[in-house]
Amino acid sequence: MMPKQIKQDNLAFNRVVSCDKIPIDKGWQKNNNFKYNDPELQKHIKNKGNYGVLCGIGDLVVLDADDLDFVCVINDLESRNVLPKTLTVQTAKGFHYYYKSKFPERKIILEKGEKHVGEILSNGCFVIGPNSIHPSGAKYSVVRDLEIAELKDDELMEFEPWFKSELSHEKVDIKGDGSWSSKVNQKLSILNIARSYGFEVRGNKAVCKFHNDTKPSLTFVDENGLFLCYGCNLKGNITTFVSLCKEHKFERNEEIKWSRK
Ligand SMILES: [Zn+2]
Repeated sequence: MMPKQIKQDNLAFNRVVSCDKIPIDKGWQKNNNFKYNDPELQKHIKNKGNYGVLCGIGDLVVLDADDLDFVCVINDLESRNVLPKTLTVQTAKGFHYYYKSKFPERKIILEKGEKHVGEILSNGCFVIGPNSIHPSGAKYSVVRDLEIAELKDDELMEFEPWFKSELSHEKVDIKGDGSWSSKVNQKLSILNIARSYGFEVRGNKAVCKFHNDTKPSLTFVDENGLFLCYGCNLKGNITTFVSLCKEHKFERNEEIKWSRK
């Protein structure tokens, strides 16, 4: 149940309540934690318990992006080869990106204005491990089955101001240039448009029809009219989405009204 990338002797784990985020073992930050192959831990996972992956041990640092604005920033940094692509796990709201790096801080919270968009997690923190189940019933699933990328020492510290400056930009993909498409992007709900093209939207996710998808790999952020799929790497705004639907010759169900926000 544990992906091979985290089955490493220098990583540590804790037991977490089934379908929850509450750690079971007291003192897991210090000594009361487990190696991946510990029979106690294996038994717990086999009995459908959740597990946590400890950050700060074995130089593991996890970027917890729970907002699509931040996901778009990471994607952008990856496409410019500023950040390497790495093991990525889908969470209930966003994604966990795993890295190996020396990181002196415990935790850094990233915000865009007043909005919490993510965290850099290290010493004394843990993330819920892949294939565990979120309280909502969603599974933490590996969406990019890559090795954990290594960053130079302290490299993530340099990324913090990067993230902050990238996040301080106005909306990620939509520029208000007064054109028809920009107005469309501002007024329409991408969730309703996706529904009208036959996507089965649950919460802010859907099974992607642009590739052969089984899990809901497609994530929407309705406030900004953005979408992103980790299965096929397509992303963009409402205009992009509608063009793709047209390219794929998806039928639009006129019965489903395009509601205004
Ligand atoms: Zn896709």
